[in-house]
Amino acid sequence: MTDRPDFDPSTLVIHSNRSYERQSNSILFPIHQTATYIHETVGVTKGYGYSRGANPTVNALEQAIAAIEGTRTALCFRSGMSAITTLCLGLLHAGDHVVLSEVIYGGTARLFHQVLTHFGVEYTFADTASVEATEQAFRPNTRLLFIETPANPTLRLSDVRALADLAHSRENLLLAVDNTFLTPLLQDCLSLGADISMLSTTKYIDGHNATLGGSLASHNEALMERLLYVRKIIGSIQAPMDSWLALQGVKTLPARLAMHCEHAMKVAQWLAAHPRIAKVNYPGLPTFPQIELAKKQQKAFGGMLSFELDASPELSLKFVDALKLCTCAESLGSVETLITHPATASHCDLSLAERDRLGITDRLIRLSVGLESPKDLIADFEQAFQTVFA
Ligand SMILES: *Cc1c(COP(=O)(O)O)cnc(C)c1O
Repeated sequence: MTDRPDFDPSTLVIHSNRSYERQSNSILFPIHQTATYIHETVGVTKGYGYSRGANPTVNALEQAIAAIEGTRTALCFRSGMSAITTLCLGLLHAGDHVVLSEVIYGGTARLFHQVLTHFGVEYTFADTASVEATEQAFRPNTRLLFIETPANPTLRLSDVRALADLAHSRENLLLAVDNTFLTPLLQDCLSLGADISMLSTTKYIDGHNATLGGSLASHNEALMERLLYVRKIIGSIQAPMDSWLALQGVKTLPARLAMHCEHAMKVAQWLAAHPRIAKVNYPGLPTFPQIELAKKQQKAFGGMLSFELDASPELSLKFVDALKLCTCAESLGSVETLITHPATASHCDLSLAERDRLGITDRLIRLSVGLESPKDLIADFEQAFQTVFA
């Protein structure tokens, strides 16, 4: 725990959890790989009773995340999806209604379509890029507005401050933001008025594809208490080893994000100028329709982009296969550049008509720009263009 909250984020992620291990003075916070804790006398513990409730190593990661979220506490979960699930189970009752961004992570949509609907939770997917469309989707029983911005995979943005104002003009309506693509370092959702910031720590926080994890943070202490309690009941807390690995990752988050942003801009500019490219979605390009909103609510444009080739879907897939340095794999936010085809992967259960309406076409390719030299990445694209269009 830091007693110097005035430090910058790049200092806080390294020192926010610096409580020394006294036996050896190891510089790294230890892995408390334990299920339970010894009582000093019956009923008296040092604050830890059972690792389904809390664990010191998980707490250490939570302190680092709280430091960048600017909150007193954060909670870590087994995965991003288990963070969202715990939020919904903690907040919603049967008969409650949720409004979600229509362009959203596939797993989030599936949670509502395949699971929460069976528990009587009602929901509407809306174009949250439009405040009017979002308001029209509200019902008297709407309790939660859950948005993703930039949204996966089209990078469509939603105005966090405007939607926070809208949500708070109703009684009992909270705004949660899936901030996985930017993290609080590049988009401070809570300062923009959101009630809850959610991250899949699997992505930029870990940064090395070593773990799955998720987090929730809020200034609403009663809500955090409730979520802590529900996490303990359902057992969705992160494992100590995973927290420890993510804790090493988060220390380099500010440095990595700066590089991700710089590399993504270079790759986006190069792709946008290429004659075989029909479209590039990157919030930092002057052609991006919502660049002004990006400048207003983001501190930088991030490491994610998507693009369409001026070619058939078949050739687009051949192009992905022809890449040698860019790795075709799900996930994002890691040191490796990862490339995916959302129409056959994350968004495969949407109909073709629905995907086309949302811009998730059969030609759309999503790129998570990694830390490799942009020169080498661009050379890889160049050779793939030559292979496919020879
Ligand atoms: C990956 C991801 C999730 C889900 O996180 P997991 O850690 O894979 O469960 C949620 N939202 C977004 C935007 C993601 O990219």
